[in-house]
Amino acid sequence: MRLLVAGAGFSGAVAGRALAELGHDVTIVDERDHVAGNCHTARDPETGVMVHVYGPHIFHTDDRRVWDYVARFAEMMPYVNRVKAVVGGEVYTLPINLHTINQFLRASFSPAEARAHVEALARDDIGTASNFEEQGLKLVGEDLYRAFFEGYTRKQWGVEPSRLPASILKRLPLRFTYDDNYFFHRHQGIPRDGYSAMVDAILDHPRIALQLGTRAEDMPGDFDHVLWTGPLDRYFDHAEGRLAYRTLRFEPIRAEGDIQGTAVMNYCDAEVAHTRIAEHKYFAPWEQAEFARSVAFREFSDDCGPGDIPFYPLRLADDKALLARYVARARATKGVTFLGRLGTYAYLDMDVTIGRALDTAEALHAAWQQGQPA
Ligand code: UDP
Repeated sequence: MRLLVAGAGFSGAVAGRALAELGHDVTIVDERDHVAGNCHTARDPETGVMVHVYGPHIFHTDDRRVWDYVARFAEMMPYVNRVKAVVGGEVYTLPINLHTINQFLRASFSPAEARAHVEALARDDIGTASNFEEQGLKLVGEDLYRAFFEGYTRKQWGVEPSRLPASILKRLPLRFTYDDNYFFHRHQGIPRDGYSAMVDAILDHPRIALQLGTRAEDMPGDFDHVLWTGPLDRYFDHAEGRLAYRTLRFEPIRAEGDIQGTAVMNYCDAEVAHTRIAEHKYFAPWEQAEFARSVAFREFSDDCGPGDIPFYPLRLADDKALLARYVARARATKGVTFLGRLGTYAYLDMDVTIGRALDTAEALHAAWQQGQPA
């Protein structure tokens, strides 16, 4: 089969590679001038530091198949995400752990004491949390919720937390030990040479032709099948209306030596306009010593307008109704498969994206083998 893949992020690259290995001829286009989508990394020309151009990406997974897959294409360096948070002029560790709790409450609780204390603070009248706010109040109670989650979430998503799904907060652990690892997955790391080098390696296959700076809409229509990893609503010319996304804006800060002394610092207070600052050399501890100057990005979240890059699907109630209409259109469209964060309008992490891309490629190939149109 001759396949067109729209988008050279993880979804498009991984599915394209799998299909190329299965004997198909794959053309992958991306309208940007680089691969890896919003996971793109590049050396900052002024400091030489490897920068996560579209914000911090730390690879973490429990899926052994996906971990083995990324290790095929990059040397995964050990990295543990340890996030700090500024709240009311003080610095805490995230995710909320025993140190955070003791510092916030000016206490020296043991794990059992902290658990009992937080359970007493937590709202016990909320059964199953139906939104982000209820999930926060049920988990940690009023004070911790307002300090660490409410302000940050309003800035990040631009809406009241009561309108957001509880699942967003379920991404974060709550611990009654001093373990401040942001993730609870078994495997965690960052590719030694960055994500774009990893995606370059994935795309390096004789049956793959890559065309950067090319819109899929401008390609000829004679491919046997299209894999679309761009925004789902864009494929249909927004005929049903626009699905809402959040976009991000980054303001670089450059200085001699250290800027903040750690990789990620969240700013949870509503009065501070940015959500977080990422100092990039700390994502590559194996090469930190090589740089005299440092670069950090102050990160701002905003509504995604027509010309902006979509980052996070908002998935409010209206979006879900709209999504259902687009999913119906997608199902009725033969010869096109939608995948990825944008193509399925879902808040997917890198590992889930890769797993789904592999599954999708295998399922498509199997269907074609049996002569079924997909
Ligand atoms: N969050 C928060 N305070 C924080 C960090 C996260 O309220 O200091 C909430 C916020 O709503 C965020 C969500 O938890 O969108 C998920 O956080 P995560 O760090 O997983 O977000 P990502 O790195 O994907 O932007």
